[in-house]
Amino acid sequence: MAGGVSVNAIRIEKIRPTRTEWAFFIFGQFIFVNDFRISEKFCERSTFLLGRGPRKGMAMIISMKRHATREEIDAVTNQVNHFGYKVHSIEGEERVVIGVVGVGDVTACMESIEAMPQVENVMRISAPYKFVSKEFRKEKTQIRVNGTVIGGDEFVVIAGPCSVESEEQILRSAEGVAKAGAKLLRGGAFKPRTSPYDFQGMEEEGLKLLQKAKKATGLGIVTEVMSDRDVDLVANYADVLQIGARNMQNFMLLKALGKCGRPILLKRGLSSTVKELLMSAEYIVAHGNPDVMLCERGIRTFETVTRNTCDIAAIPALNELTHLPVILDPSHATGKRSLVPALARAGVAIGADGLIVEAHPAPEKAISDGAQSLDMFQFARMMDDLKPYIDLWKASRAREVAAAASI
Ligand code: PEP
Ligand code: MN
Repeated sequence: MAGGVSVNAIRIEKIRPTRTEWAFFIFGQFIFVNDFRISEKFCERSTFLLGRGPRKGMAMIISMKRHATREEIDAVTNQVNHFGYKVHSIEGEERVVIGVVGVGDVTACMESIEAMPQVENVMRISAPYKFVSKEFRKEKTQIRVNGTVIGGDEFVVIAGPCSVESEEQILRSAEGVAKAGAKLLRGGAFKPRTSPYDFQGMEEEGLKLLQKAKKATGLGIVTEVMSDRDVDLVANYADVLQIGARNMQNFMLLKALGKCGRPILLKRGLSSTVKELLMSAEYIVAHGNPDVMLCERGIRTFETVTRNTCDIAAIPALNELTHLPVILDPSHATGKRSLVPALARAGVAIGADGLIVEAHPAPEKAISDGAQSLDMFQFARMMDDLKPYIDLWKASRAREVAAAASI
């Protein structure tokens, strides 16, 4: 096992100097991983990280100032080479344009070149994220959770209350959503609340109740972790760790998730761009965990009719940019129970891989997010109403898979 990993690491090191960072970085992870004797499964996934790399191509274009001298052009070329990239320059009568070719994140090289006085403009062509990009991997990542596959040929619904409140509440929620066809149970034991005076969650006691609900219904558990200090604790009880919108750029937490051994549901930050979401996912994957699903849960805009503004176009945009599964949260995206079923239908139609929906046996008594929670009857009706859309989704997914296989 260790031999295979070393060979991969050395091979990458030899490609070119800028990859050395990754090689050492990843290599460092492996030493760490081996010390802790992580399973064969992890090694398979490590090969996923190391075995295939993005294709070589144009990474950025540098436009020199008009009438730049030969020395100035050579200085830029040398600097590009110093970062391990190759150059292809086009020399016009007045201006030289330099194409930078290579793999990897060009950010450091770009920043250095931008600071050179003879350079007029630098344009990045390759994305700053690698492992999560479609270029890196064409087929969708499939994530197996408690017997269910997310990113495969099933549309997966995750449902349950905003917070775990009591044994009775979580058991009734789990039974209700399981009966209606949900495959995973959601419920927060650690709650990120805007006010410090609001209910903060039942913490470990809540995690234990989630385990009871899993035993009773067989549903896998999706629950939030808010701090890198709690990752091991939450991973002991959960099948999927949810990273809330407010923690999307908590980089210490993202790094800790690389080694947690559980799939991640990464929610888009309240004011984050799609690219920032992908960069956060890149953190988790680069630190050793390829099982990341992304969640559109609405963003903050000037609109006040809904709690957040659902960026529905982010779903097909993500499907173009990344191989990671994409989940829609119609509950936080609207803040209103009456709007949830319509948005859920939109999610199916637009090609999400699943939904995460808040449902509560008595929403009027919910400690958090009651206004956006469906009761069990409403949830079951929504699931019923989704069926014809899910049938169309399945046909469309089968066509996409067949088309991808024929390329
Ligand atoms: C939640 O899922 O209950 C939650 C707090 O979500 P978000 O982080 O998207 O606000
Ligand atoms: Mn909530």
